[in-house]
Amino acid sequence: MPPKKHSSLDRVLGRLDSLDAVNLTNLVQRLARERGLFEDIFNTLQEGVLVITLDGEIEYANLAAHRLIGLGDDELVGQTLWRLVPGLRSSLGIALDEDAAMPVVTREFELTYPEPRTVQLYMVPFGEQHAGGRRFAVILSDITRTKQSTEERIENERTSSILLLAAGVAHELGNPLNSLTIHLQLINRKLKKLKASKEIDAVAESIRICEGEVKRLDGIITNFLEAIRPQPPDLRETNLSEVLAEVLSFQQRELADRDIRVEAETRDDLPIVMADRNQLKQIFFNIVKNAVEAMQPGGRLRIKARTDDDMVYLAFADSGAGIKQEDLTRLFQPYHTTKTGGHGLGLMVVQRIMREHGGQIGIESKEGLGTVVTLQFPRKDRRVRMLRS
Ligand code: ADP
Ligand code: MG
Repeated sequence: MPPKKHSSLDRVLGRLDSLDAVNLTNLVQRLARERGLFEDIFNTLQEGVLVITLDGEIEYANLAAHRLIGLGDDELVGQTLWRLVPGLRSSLGIALDEDAAMPVVTREFELTYPEPRTVQLYMVPFGEQHAGGRRFAVILSDITRTKQSTEERIENERTSSILLLAAGVAHELGNPLNSLTIHLQLINRKLKKLKASKEIDAVAESIRICEGEVKRLDGIITNFLEAIRPQPPDLRETNLSEVLAEVLSFQQRELADRDIRVEAETRDDLPIVMADRNQLKQIFFNIVKNAVEAMQPGGRLRIKARTDDDMVYLAFADSGAGIKQEDLTRLFQPYHTTKTGGHGLGLMVVQRIMREHGGQIGIESKEGLGTVVTLQFPRKDRRVRMLRS
């Protein structure tokens, strides 16, 4: 780290005990002015800014934070964030601990007071580890409008441009593939009329391979289109553990090949959720695949289920490479990928499907340690909650 620059204020502070009353008064006034300047800056921000302790106690809140959470000036400091936003603490699902290496967290959550709102939270740890110095800077952005308009149009513009592209691809690739198939059949027929020989066998073998590849291409396109074509979910009573077990057994081969150990701690008595089985499979598949791709042989994927009054949570924790802090906010953008040969569509699809299920996806990650993807589904028997009024 470059050495910290010392301002003239720092120099004065260093000579604190040699200051007389007049100079002290000047100093206090200057400190107050500097503090006022920073407060003014923070108060002009659209985003809510909070500083909280590990216990969730709010030490600083700017104006926008008061507006978002629905409290008047100066009412936030001293309150506990977990209490003001019920469900937030449990949805974070991380251990808040002085000694732990803490991840940067991003989350979407709903506020119902003073009006229903969707807020994107971005939580960054800072300050000394140990000795009670650990803090979180919490940035809150109101994304209600964005989310609403997204839901109204079902897909945002980027997504619809992908759909357009996909439709184009299907159209463009379908015809040449058809023609390839037909011509391969013709060649096959002609070959059969020729005298048998070693050469002809070799050509026939090549043609067989071509046919196989054409079929594979066709399959890739079909899957790709299925993956991104938005379909309204066919919601039925569903046991998440059951679907998860199916997906894991389907992926067993790949997991074993890569020497990845999966520990699924889901319960049979998990509360029922309303979900589309096929779409669920796709979500689980995408998440497990990402985890596998992030891990080295010998890696471990732990899947855990938990519930509260309203929600069922499924957490997928891998011991993979983790995600760079600057990439965390771009995970759901279509085409965002860090992989050679990646499409950058997997998480976009997961997010869309989760939203259509009234649920959410949250991701926290620590570079070099691993990633936790948490899915949150509303319980079918969810009680109507009375929030603070
Ligand atoms: P793709 O897998 O095609 O790259 P995704 O939308 O599935 O597209 O994922 C986008 C990016 O998010 C990935 O390229 C990767 O950088 C990151 N990512 C997703 N899941 C994980 C994970 N479990 N561990 C590390 N990085 C991940
Ligand atoms: Mg993926």
